[in-house]
Amino acid sequence: MSIFSPVLCMLGRHSPRRRKVEWNGRTYTGHCRHCGKSIERKSHRNWRLTAE
Ligand SMILES: [Zn+2]
Repeated sequence: MSIFSPVLCMLGRHSPRRRKVEWNGRTYTGHCRHCGKSIERKSHRNWRLTAE
């Protein structure tokens, strides 16, 4: 986990590593560039943690 920018993650504002973003047939999924957690795109520029 990076020590940089996790504040945004704590606020639920995750950002994907764009090269790693994948389409799974339902939504875009990827990993947060800041905290490394699995995230999925809810809407434009709105990424949330993947519910598992
Ligand atoms: Zn994050």
